[in-house]
Amino acid sequence: MYHRLTMENLTELKLLRDLYHYKTLGYTYFSDIKKPIITMEREMDLPSCLEELSLTAHQCSLCTLSNSRKQVVFGEGNPDADIMFVGEGPGAVEDETGRPFVGKSGQLLTKIIESTLDVKREDVYIANIVKCRPPLNRVPSKEEAQKCLPFLMKQIELVKPKIIITLGATSYQYLSGDYESAISKIRGEMIQFSHALLMPTFHPSFLLRNPSAKKYVFLDMQKVKALL
Ligand code: SF4
Repeated sequence: MYHRLTMENLTELKLLRDLYHYKTLGYTYFSDIKKPIITMEREMDLPSCLEELSLTAHQCSLCTLSNSRKQVVFGEGNPDADIMFVGEGPGAVEDETGRPFVGKSGQLLTKIIESTLDVKREDVYIANIVKCRPPLNRVPSKEEAQKCLPFLMKQIELVKPKIIITLGATSYQYLSGDYESAISKIRGEMIQFSHALLMPTFHPSFLLRNPSAKKYVFLDMQKVKALL
């Protein structure tokens, strides 16, 4: 049995070799987020400007979600936003319009932003873990999320938000790499994430089904507001 050596494999092997070399010199490697090496590499190759990054995403067919999408939903908002919201993936209305969070959940999110944070929706940045709609709104697979994450990581690098608010369990898990913590326990916690703080909270679609949970999101937003 043999493995075909692609350019991607080769770069990965070189990176691993360098890491082992540093280890023998006494360095320890610590990553606060569990990003696969391949994700970090692709991120480095992506354009360092939001417009060009968006164009790249619009031409992307790296995962099978490209087969069923109508539009790529890259993300939108203030390119210098202090706050970035990260959802799971586009739904039907987003797929039609090419804009994130514009359906019923999006309307609730806009209301939350404008009434609790006292800023306009246009003042924040809104994106998703995956840029293409998963069929029937299923949860994106780990593989799809891994393939798409470099776009989001680049968006974070370029926008440089102070606070990243993940919406729902899936978004928190895929971005942080923490698959252990239940969203009901971890929500409202402030976690160091690269140069920003990451705070998980409930997804607006969960709030539409469970209006009594809105009070928790209100408390979470108060924490965010206090940090601005
Ligand atoms: S979901 Fe992301 S990785 Fe998959 S095709 Fe769309 S843009 Fe590319």
